[in-house]
Amino acid sequence: MWPLCDARGGLIVMSVHPPKLVIFDCDGVLVDSEPLSLDVLVRVLRNAGVDMDAEEATERFLGKSLKTMSDILHEEYGLAVDDHFLEEMRLDLYQRFRRELQPIAGISQALDELDIARCVASSSQMERIRLSLTITGLIDKLEPHLFSASMVANGKPAPDLFLHAAAQMHTAPENCIVIEDSPAGIEAAQAAGMRVFAFAGASHAKSERHLATLRQLEPDVLFDDMRELIHFVRKEQRDGNAS
Ligand SMILES: [Mg+2]
Repeated sequence: MWPLCDARGGLIVMSVHPPKLVIFDCDGVLVDSEPLSLDVLVRVLRNAGVDMDAEEATERFLGKSLKTMSDILHEEYGLAVDDHFLEEMRLDLYQRFRRELQPIAGISQALDELDIARCVASSSQMERIRLSLTITGLIDKLEPHLFSASMVANGKPAPDLFLHAAAQMHTAPENCIVIEDSPAGIEAAQAAGMRVFAFAGASHAKSERHLATLRQLEPDVLFDDMRELIHFVRKEQRDGNAS
């Protein structure tokens, strides 16, 4: 593989493997959920005696599973994440989701335009994935191909979930493109041997600092408008078929 710049200045990596499957992360890629979940997390943490602002919470927990988050809170903050804590957070979050959750702008059209297989691979639990996609009207475009971190031993940044999703979809890792918004997710895709398009168009991803972090991880494409997704996928298809 060798790097090229496309006309828009985005980094493209040519590949000899045509894409056959697009694996979508959910939070921050399909639904604009991160501001809501970080807000709820910060509040629940404060009630439990841990003072953490939204920026720190973003850095520590973005894209990670509940289990990973629980481990960090236990080991580094001495907080026992018990059933009461999780239940409070879950109820609060679902209420906010029902009132406020929006799809990522342009994602519905992007899914309609995509002419290869697609699936979802998210750090969230299946109940939350299904709720998020139902509220935002995306579920019919993605069901039944939904995969949750609870199905594998190790969450992102480990490659387990993406490898599991690809295997279930009968697709080799080199024929997959992962769409991810979080550093942990980008690292997981790279560890799985997949191409990764970093999406920086969600509400939480606009800061220069966040963009710099994403850039440092050298994703194959970095983009911030979901309406452009089809352009980048088609480019990969042309490159793959030409080689
Ligand atoms: Mg995400």
